[in-house]
Amino acid sequence: MQAVRRSMAAAAHEAGRAPESVQLLAVSKTFGADAVLEAMQAGQTLFGENYLQEAIDKIVAVAAAAPQTALQWHFIGPIQSNKTRPIAEHFDWVHTLEREKIAQRLSQQRPSTLAPLNVCLQVNISGEASKSGVAPAELRELAQQVAALPNLRLRGLMALPEPAAEFEQQRVAFRALRLLYEQLQADGLALDTLSMGMSGDMRAAIVEGATMVRVGSAIFGSRKPIQ
Ligand SMILES: *Cc1c(COP(=O)(O)O)cnc(C)c1O
Repeated sequence: MQAVRRSMAAAAHEAGRAPESVQLLAVSKTFGADAVLEAMQAGQTLFGENYLQEAIDKIVAVAAAAPQTALQWHFIGPIQSNKTRPIAEHFDWVHTLEREKIAQRLSQQRPSTLAPLNVCLQVNISGEASKSGVAPAELRELAQQVAALPNLRLRGLMALPEPAAEFEQQRVAFRALRLLYEQLQADGLALDTLSMGMSGDMRAAIVEGATMVRVGSAIFGSRKPIQ
């Protein structure tokens, strides 16, 4: 955890950015509540999860073990349209919104006792047919639709680019996402979150302007393959 924080600060410094301008989302998928509690002891408060049932069990277990601590839970997995309610009820953020229909359901199902659900739109930045995310050409329309929903708060963009080994290569997709983000800001949307960068490419993402990196294995170790 401290090593990841140091790498993030070094990348921010390299880009002439303040280290506080980049938040760390600890991706705890496949790791248990004990790993979350341990990270929490080290000062971590933002956690990301991909698998809904696993996440909810963990959120409940962590809340029971540490009732005084307010953590933020971010959903970063694919969203099935029949699973929006538990997401709206249990999470603070969703990074993987890519369709208006899902956005409407999340807004309708967000409990009125909770603050609006923070959302990032996932963009298919590498243009791969198999990857999820809204196409860049359709982003502006989706952003306007989502921004108008009462119980969602549109915060920014997220991408999961095609893996690239080289630093300069990694920067290309991140730069493209940043440009889309800046265009939406120029349109008048009050966005403040660029969710990009993981264990293997967070330096390139931070150099290109990430405000939140989603880091799993560099914090928790390698994951066992999902069956
Ligand atoms: C698993 C995952 C991460 C973290 O990946 P690492 O390579 O372990 O850092 C980040 N974002 C998403 C969407 C993920 O599914």
